[in-house]
Amino acid sequence: MEYFGNEIGRLIEELSRLPGIGVKTAQRLAFHIIGMPEQHAKNLSSAILKAKQNIKYCKECCTLTDKEVCDICSSSDRDHNTIMVVEDPRDMAAYEKTKQYKGVYHILHGAISPMLGIGPSQLKIKELLARLHNHEIQEVILATNSTVEGEATALYISKLIKPIDIKVTRIANGVPVGGDLEYVDEITLSRALEGRIEL
Ligand SMILES: [Zn+2]
Repeated sequence: MEYFGNEIGRLIEELSRLPGIGVKTAQRLAFHIIGMPEQHAKNLSSAILKAKQNIKYCKECCTLTDKEVCDICSSSDRDHNTIMVVEDPRDMAAYEKTKQYKGVYHILHGAISPMLGIGPSQLKIKELLARLHNHEIQEVILATNSTVEGEATALYISKLIKPIDIKVTRIANGVPVGGDLEYVDEITLSRALEGRIEL
């Protein structure tokens, strides 16, 4: 990258570290950024820094938020006795779009994957169990993805909850196997939620 000069080379290198960005795309983005008005470039870099510095995990559901407790967890319009467990904040966003679900969420930040070396202790499972012990929870809906990892995670969590007297359900098979929830359409998600089965 030296023929573009060190500064551009560094920008291309940093951009190419992002997921899904190869060197060619990184070059295209770098030249686009260089061509931006200075104020746009400043806005972009300050948005990245601000997000990085101010975003934290919600104390209740572990989603990403800039508050101590996120808007959903602090809302009095939600049913705080029902918790839907999802892998990722984007899955939560997908369910929110359906406008069908009125409970609260718990975000695991991943799924159990021996292949990737991700075990239960790396997920927000401890935090989920603490919520179940500290609050009056009536139902836990396991809405992890229909992948091998998502199913294994749902099974693992259901076994942990079984000894506690809380209803555990799994979303129906309407969610395509291997499909990230984020990409599933709203009708499919609503049906998967309605057709959930008790474990
Ligand atoms: Zn929250």
